[in-house]
Amino acid sequence: MAKRDYYEVLGVAKNATDDDLKKAYRRLAMKYHPDRNPDSKEAEGKFKEAKEAYEMLSDAAKREAYDRYGHAGVDPNAGFAGGAGGQGFGGFADVFGDIFGDIFGGQRGGQGRSNVYRGADLRYAMEISLEQAAGGCTSEIRVPAWETCESCSGSGAKPGTKPKVCHACGGQGAVRVQQGFFSIQQTCPTCRGSGKVIPEPCTACEGAGRVKKNKTLEVKIPAGIDDGMRIRSAGNGEPGINGGPPGDLYVEIHVKEHGVFQRDGDDLHCEVPIGMTTAALGGMVQIPTLNGRAEIDLPEGTQSGKQFRLRGKGIKGIRSSYPGDLYAHVVVETPVRLNDAQKQLLRELEASLKDPKHSPQTRGWMDRVKDFFQ
Ligand SMILES: [Zn+2]
Ligand SMILES: [Zn+2]
Repeated sequence: MAKRDYYEVLGVAKNATDDDLKKAYRRLAMKYHPDRNPDSKEAEGKFKEAKEAYEMLSDAAKREAYDRYGHAGVDPNAGFAGGAGGQGFGGFADVFGDIFGDIFGGQRGGQGRSNVYRGADLRYAMEISLEQAAGGCTSEIRVPAWETCESCSGSGAKPGTKPKVCHACGGQGAVRVQQGFFSIQQTCPTCRGSGKVIPEPCTACEGAGRVKKNKTLEVKIPAGIDDGMRIRSAGNGEPGINGGPPGDLYVEIHVKEHGVFQRDGDDLHCEVPIGMTTAALGGMVQIPTLNGRAEIDLPEGTQSGKQFRLRGKGIKGIRSSYPGDLYAHVVVETPVRLNDAQKQLLRELEASLKDPKHSPQTRGWMDRVKDFFQ
């Protein structure tokens, strides 16, 4: 299901302030809170949706990533990928507790907590072949990277000028505002939490202090990887804000469809078309495998649909101790475009096959049909 736009979920404009976001979220959270809507799946869904939207947009780094790349930039599930540590997004407070703590007069400890954010995670979709997935490979990808702006040495201020302490918050990065009876602490809207303002921004980086470049990254794809798995490249996401640690890069693997094999976990399946004569008389038949050909000795009278298992000719999964098997499914092919002489031969053959013992399936089928029509 397509995800709704986060701004749309909260019902706010793209340029909404942190305060707007908080108000919108609080309204939705009150309305759809599970305590108020017991047993309503719809309310629960809306509640979660609003929570996720607020968590993303209230984090400056994630909001920036979302504005730039949409949902792909801030995939909330990325952190739970492939069992690779499951650390994912840490670092943002439980927003719900945060907001209700404010409303109900919870004391916030520590004045002027610094607004240090971990950088957003990035996602990169990579397509590989089944052979590459089975055997592993190394691939180079181009990913966005940020470098300290040379012209302002990272300060964001125009050369010759300096960032100043933010007057709105006195350099604390947070301000307290009165709302009704309550005093709420929020990220300073003037400096967005950094505690500093830049009167004359550097023109090369527009005050960001860093410029976007691309870099080449070598990614090792482990043998046995399957479609939909992710590889985490720690620290290769977006840089953190105000000195926070960088996010991670997730390489999401898509395995292309193969012309011969279908994969099912560690097992492979393939179809093997054989001629009518081979099916009747038996013989050696070649079977493709991921590492060369194999042969099976087809017995006389092999029926279409019969499957043969080639043990160990599947894929050795990332966490498996043994490779899976290859299943070859026999498909008996009916000859086409016969000339008159060939047709004549087949008719003669058919006449000689009248005895039902030659057609075990037909015989059983005829018996069942007879019972059915009585
Ligand atoms: Zn600069
Ligand atoms: Zn400020």
